[in-house]
Amino acid sequence: MSPIEEYLQSNARRFQELLFEWLRIPSVSAIPECKGDVHRAGQWLQDYFTSLGLTSELIRTEGHPLVYAETPPVSGAPVVLVYGHYDVQPADPLERWDTPPFEPTERDGNIYARGASDDKGQLLTHVFAAEACMQGGKRLPFQIKFIIEGEEEVGSASLSKYLKENRKKLAANCVLVSDGCMFGPAQPAITYGLRGIVAMEMTLRGPSRDLHSGVFGGAVMNPAVALTRMLAAAIDENGKIRIPDFYKDVLPITESEHTQFSMLPFNEEQFFEKIGVAKSVGEKGFTSLERRWSRPSFDINGLTSGYQGEGSKTVIPSVASAKFTFRLVPNQNPAEIAANAKTFFESIKPEGVSIEIKYEHGAAGMVVDIDESKFIPPAAAALEQTFGRPPVFTREGGSIPIVAELSQVLKAETLLIGWGQDDDNAHSPNEKFSIGAFRDGILASARFWAEVGRSAAVNERLRT
Ligand SMILES: [Zn+2]
Repeated sequence: MSPIEEYLQSNARRFQELLFEWLRIPSVSAIPECKGDVHRAGQWLQDYFTSLGLTSELIRTEGHPLVYAETPPVSGAPVVLVYGHYDVQPADPLERWDTPPFEPTERDGNIYARGASDDKGQLLTHVFAAEACMQGGKRLPFQIKFIIEGEEEVGSASLSKYLKENRKKLAANCVLVSDGCMFGPAQPAITYGLRGIVAMEMTLRGPSRDLHSGVFGGAVMNPAVALTRMLAAAIDENGKIRIPDFYKDVLPITESEHTQFSMLPFNEEQFFEKIGVAKSVGEKGFTSLERRWSRPSFDINGLTSGYQGEGSKTVIPSVASAKFTFRLVPNQNPAEIAANAKTFFESIKPEGVSIEIKYEHGAAGMVVDIDESKFIPPAAAALEQTFGRPPVFTREGGSIPIVAELSQVLKAETLLIGWGQDDDNAHSPNEKFSIGAFRDGILASARFWAEVGRSAAVNERLRT
């Protein structure tokens, strides 16, 4: 066993206790009453970085603080920036948790707590791995930087701003992120693509107040009827989105990608059974993995109008509104899609209602060229050494807007390696993170640092 592995083994218990300690801080970024706790969670991490001897800072922002840390710079050697977030989603509904969300509990090989998987547990793997590689005051042959935010769950506004003003400080060749899933319990994955997003809200207003549907029904435009008709017009029966020019920039799925996806050990039936859905429905001509990872989509996220209490109330509501999102694939421009969607809905609005459309937020999708990547080979080697099988290459349907922004602004390669499982209940009650995944994540990360170090050392030798 290498000294690093020995160190990891003899510290495994301590690492888990540290994670528990951090999970006890309810760093819910969305709840104003938790502001102090969010700050405390950031401070906790900065203190830990300091205890490791790293240069670190708790950066105050208009929102929640950022935590920055770095190992000593090594001239000419690569820089890897680890991104993660220490804020968590709200825990409610509390009654659906089997054990309290902020009292981490070990059960059936898992750690149950809000933030266990998303993202405190995953992010700490890289911190502990770096610690193991630096034990005894060893200098790394390359530089690791950490930028950890407390606003990922509420839109990353502060980091986005800080990033633009601190490109030099955050400059890196690779942005390493663990805030996602493996492909299965023993199947490591490297995610090389993310979808983007456009989030919008549309409000239709009709009569100045709710009306009696008997007295007025049939003679005025009902905003709820208008809204549902308009939303339904946005997508056709083949799953194609009908916004003009919507598909013009869509990056097509390559032949090799199509083959690679179809070879993945993916049990479609089981997957849909788990979520209580009889079969995959979506854009014609694509598999469900392609639909979720590499094709854009449209969804209504919330619909509000009229009476929603018990029994019936015969009204024509005066207002109807909907929140909806498009998931985008690389090359689609969020602002352009939002503008086209606005024009489209305005053009099909029936008479008798007024319309207001808000563009809430947007982010572009991204994809890494696997063949050109400099960091995928060392990562793949580290994963294979740890899990006994090579990683599969996947894309993800979700969006991590700040990750796309980091790679764009820093012109750095993105490396997404999740240690979670898709049934970890991230954002749901009973969030969990497997203890095995936590340990393997630390080990794989340490091996990744070693691999990067080896190639950095080789680079240096070649140069001198
Ligand atoms: Zn997350």
